[in-house]
Amino acid sequence: MNIAAEKMGLDPEKLRSVLAQKSAADSESPAQPEAAGPGQGVPAEPEQEPFNFDIKPEELEAYLDQYVIEQREAKGILATKICTHFNRLSLPQERDEEIVGNIKNNVLMIGPTGVGKTFLIRLIAKKLGVPFVKGDATKFSETGYVGGDVEDMVRELVREADGSIDKAQCGIIYIDEIDKIASSKTTVGPDVSRSGVQRNLLKLMEETDVDLKAPHDIASQMESIIQMQQTGKMERKKINTRNILFIVSGAFSGLDEIVGKRLNRGRIGFRSGDEDQQAEISDEELHRMVRSDDLIEYGFESEFVGRLPVIAVLDQLTREDLFAILKNPKSNVIVSKKRDFLAYGIELEFEEPALRLLAERAIEEHIGARGLVSAIERVLIRFEKKFPSTDIRKLTVTAKIVKNPESSLAEIMEEYALHSYLNNFLETHGIKLNFTEAAIAMIYEMSQKRGRVVDELCSELFSDFGHGLKLVSRTDFEITPEVLEKPQQTLDDLIKRFYEPLS
Ligand code: ADP
Repeated sequence: MNIAAEKMGLDPEKLRSVLAQKSAADSESPAQPEAAGPGQGVPAEPEQEPFNFDIKPEELEAYLDQYVIEQREAKGILATKICTHFNRLSLPQERDEEIVGNIKNNVLMIGPTGVGKTFLIRLIAKKLGVPFVKGDATKFSETGYVGGDVEDMVRELVREADGSIDKAQCGIIYIDEIDKIASSKTTVGPDVSRSGVQRNLLKLMEETDVDLKAPHDIASQMESIIQMQQTGKMERKKINTRNILFIVSGAFSGLDEIVGKRLNRGRIGFRSGDEDQQAEISDEELHRMVRSDDLIEYGFESEFVGRLPVIAVLDQLTREDLFAILKNPKSNVIVSKKRDFLAYGIELEFEEPALRLLAERAIEEHIGARGLVSAIERVLIRFEKKFPSTDIRKLTVTAKIVKNPESSLAEIMEEYALHSYLNNFLETHGIKLNFTEAAIAMIYEMSQKRGRVVDELCSELFSDFGHGLKLVSRTDFEITPEVLEKPQQTLDDLIKRFYEPLS
């Protein structure tokens, strides 16, 4: 009998089963930090040996170039600093330990939403074969009672590393929306808590030991108690954060003004885009001039800023960039949409003018490349619903489909219905009906006017044609608008003419 569990009024058997269920649930759905997994837009790479860091910055950059459009500077900085960080881990430990106050290559990325920040880090983590976890700074609270605390991400890394603490200790933690934990220097309210979150993060970014079992995770704590009862030992597994690389990012709205003020330059009408010819200096250029004191003025503790020695600025993507993303055969946006259709055995192709239109739609959403996914979804969802129930095995997305998806789908379905009817007719009667172009247009018109689907309408119009055409020994027959106008009379005349000479 488990005394600890008993004391708490719990049946140990029941408790064990709860814990088993919990651990199963945990492995199915990672806790609130977003973990990097397959299907997150990152190409499947052959399994890599863990911690094989024999990779050079330029090699990593070239890899990123295959997938990420533009962002040259960020690609270069990230490839270099991340490579250096991991290659440094292969140095004999003593050498690093000789350095007092070791400085890590943690990176701060500044850039708006949907420009490739997460994508870059995911690609790098995948290429290097290190565990990676993404968290959102807005979810953390100083005490961890709402949404979880910063240490949860470290524990999540262990899960991403399939339970290996060693691997997790060399992982990457990426925290987005870091600008939301900047405080505005007031002494009360959420700002105090934001500074608290910064301090908690700071500890992790420097070096600290994190308990594998979260103090707020009751089930894990219970598990420890049971273990203690069984083994007589309280095993406390810790994760050291010394070698974990931290990458933080945010849009940092308002930071440009702080930099601008410092530079003492007037700022008129900043915004990227062609219309802003009069802008003296763009947001991005200002962000590239960011110094530590600007970040401190923005609301970060100086110690926190001190732990982010590397800054990478990402640019807003233009319409052309979005088009280039779609045209890239390795684009995960297109590749994953193709896979959605392939799941039903349907091949999906895009014509270039369609891609251009999609890029134009996406730019209007002001969420960078994220707009591409929603623009494509808006067009294709109806096709994704309809096609699997048909025999259609290919969809070529044209500009016409992007402009008028609804009516294009209706047309395709009409064509499909006609095609199915004709195939059926051939199979049943061994006779090939050939519609002329004009007859095709006319049958669609008739179906719309009469509110009947094309195949039903054809069945009705040509109900006697199977038998009738056999009587006149035909193996094919042309359907013209004249036939559609008077089908029965056409057939009667045909039979009459065929038998007349015999009578
Ligand atoms: P964020 O900058 O907000 O982190 P993401 O990196 O998550 O944006 O971008 C969302 C998706 O948009 C990515 O998965 C990728 O498909 C696409 N994407 C964004 N930026 C680029 C880029 N520069 N090149 C190629 N694809 C991109």
